[in-house]
Parts: sequence; structure tokens; C-alpha cells
Amino acid sequence: MKTGRIAALLLLAGVAGPALAAQCNVEIEGNDAMQFNKKSIEVPQSCKKFTVTLKHTGKLPKASMGHNWVVTKTADMQGAVNDGIAAGLDKNYVKPADNRVIAFTKVIGGGESDSISFDAGKLKPDGDYTFFCSFPGHSTIMKGKLAVVKS
Ligand code: ZN
Repeated sequence: MKTGRIAALLLLAGVAGPALAAQCNVEIEGNDAMQFNKKSIEVPQSCKKFTVTLKHTGKLPKASMGHNWVVTKTADMQGAVNDGIAAGLDKNYVKPADNRVIAFTKVIGGGESDSISFDAGKLKPDGDYTFFCSFPGHSTIMKGKLAVVKS
């Protein structure tokens, strides 16, 4: 009986183990009300790659209510937004080869999704990063903080 209980505990510990491993991906939703469903994203320091999946839960087309997910240093955000608007929708509102942009998804419309995996080593543990949607006019509301956390 005692042996059985220990075995059960070990089994539980084994099941709990993977939950403690770093979560190197996140899902974020954008909607027709021009909102993300997250205000912050944490990237565990132990992740080599980090994957962000953006889902548009609305119905509106990308030309009128398109969303993407872009991350830059907070200080670089406004410049990347301005140049992205100039680049236009067919460039996903991101200036081509903009080295301020750490990662971005394409612009998607209602019902669509897109994922991006990037080298988490580009992020500094003490860095100040902001993620946002670079569709014209959206970044004032559709933005949040991205931070590297110990894992
Ligand atoms: Zn948007």
C-alpha cells in the first residue's frame, strides 16, 4: 500500500514536470473592436525560439480592420509605426528590412491567423519592449509590454 502511494506521487510529479518547463509560445487575439486580448507577454529567458500566434476573432476584412503583431524596443515603436504606415498594407505596414522590428506577423482579417517564430536571444533580459498592431491608427490602443522573465 505504502509503495503504491509513493509510486502514485512519483507519477504525479512526472505529470507536473512538463508544466514547469518554459512556455515558448503564446497566442494573442485581435478583434473587430480594435483590441488585443493581452496587455503583456512574458518570454522565458530559457527559450531559444519564441512563437507568437495571432488570431483575428472578428469578421471584418483586413483592409478595414486588419491586425498584425509587431514587436520593437519601446523607444523604436513610434518610428516603426510611422514608416510602416508609409510602407502600406501590401508590406504588412512594416517597412521592409526595418532593423528596429524584432518580429512581426502579416496583417490578417477576421477569421484568419498567422504565426511568427523568432530568435528569443535578440531580447535582452532588462530590455523595454512593446508589441503593437501597426495598422494605421491601431497602435495607440492595440499595444502591450513584452518582457523577458527568468525561467
Ligand atoms: Zn489592428
